Amino acid sequence: MAKRNAAAHPESLMMSYGYKPEWSEGALKCPIFQTSTFVFKNAKEGKAFFEIAYGLREKGPTEKLGLIYSRLNNPDLEILEGRLALWDKAEAAAVFSSGMSAISTVALEFLRPGDVLLHSEPIYGGTDYLFNHILPRMGVRVVSFSANGASDGIHKALKTLKKGERPAMIFIETPANPTNLLVDIAACAKAAKELSTKNRRVLVAVDNTFLGPLWQRPLEHGADLVLYSATKFIGGHSDLIAGVCLGSQELMTRVRTLRTFLGTMASAWTGWLLLRSLETLKLRMTCQMKNARHVATYLANHPKVERLYYLGSLDPSTPQGKIYQRQCLAPGSVISFDIRGGEKEAFAFLDALKLVKLAVSLGGTESLAEHPGTMTHADVPPAEQKRMGISPKMVRLSIGVENPGDLIRDLEQALKAAA
Ligand SMILES: *Cc1c(COP(=O)(O)O)cnc(C)c1O
Repeated sequence: MAKRNAAAHPESLMMSYGYKPEWSEGALKCPIFQTSTFVFKNAKEGKAFFEIAYGLREKGPTEKLGLIYSRLNNPDLEILEGRLALWDKAEAAAVFSSGMSAISTVALEFLRPGDVLLHSEPIYGGTDYLFNHILPRMGVRVVSFSANGASDGIHKALKTLKKGERPAMIFIETPANPTNLLVDIAACAKAAKELSTKNRRVLVAVDNTFLGPLWQRPLEHGADLVLYSATKFIGGHSDLIAGVCLGSQELMTRVRTLRTFLGTMASAWTGWLLLRSLETLKLRMTCQMKNARHVATYLANHPKVERLYYLGSLDPSTPQGKIYQRQCLAPGSVISFDIRGGEKEAFAFLDALKLVKLAVSLGGTESLAEHPGTMTHADVPPAEQKRMGISPKMVRLSIGVENPGDLIRDLEQALKAAA
């Protein structure tokens, strides 16, 4: 892989980093390596590649793992992983077939029977199901703590652990969906460090789907692993499903090895689409962030909007505002709000939208709206929804790259229709 140009910013490197045209008949763009397997120059080379891939011996100082089989490695994925690592300043990355396959591979690699997993709440529905229904079947105890505004949620959760219990991982999602509540990454990293022993390191994993990799860099705040649903902002066009995990070389070697055996890697075609998406990542996320600012300002002043959940309107003197100042670089483009009334008014608003589409998911070029209470968070029991701050009057918006005036006009006529 090409040497990193230290002077250049990630957005400057997304078009070329890690790819050489002479590999592919001078093609400017990296082709899709739509192949399951790769031809070895000779049997000795095949043997050497497998020795490294399966950890049978240490890699030599200049030796590289060659291409073997697309469940282990593929040029589109390797180039993509090199480029993704630039944004988060990570040593290594691995691309997965979905955000859920990245999260489940990480959970299976680092958790053992008898371990305790601590996680922030609310958390993505699929992650919640994996943690609270599947991991307990394998003897993992799961303890949640609320993203409740202050940095002490994790400490309260740790106090509930019984003597002798082994915390193994703190998994956080920040900002949380759909309330945009922040969890203090540095506070969790500090707690994990204190819990770690010489033989057992407690890891902090952060689902950074909502802000990253442009607006929040968890590794810089002490996290060990960063996870993404690349289906959202990284893919950015609502046309693929993929996931990413990033971290140190040491941890990522373990993650990549389990990925090989679970077969949770992304396909070459998805890898290629993501390479294309990365070229406009900064452009898209910046435009979406600016559009969201216009939309939030409009909503904040609308009489039908009872409450806005937007990072850009946090008061810097509050605990949440302080975490935001320390940890986030911009407020992103997911906004929730409570409409005056209830489910009826929320549905009338959603049904009246024209330019903004009624669909779950987020982070794409088009603006989307949904009703968390009955859609993305429908499987959360009502009492728990209430505790998480999800009410029937809540609507979640993901702002795209459209003209902000057009977006506001659409919201305006839909709010009028919701009367
Ligand atoms: C969508 C999402 C996931 C799951 O990702 P998939 O690509 O749908 O598997 C995980 N975490 C968050 C925060 C998400 O928004």
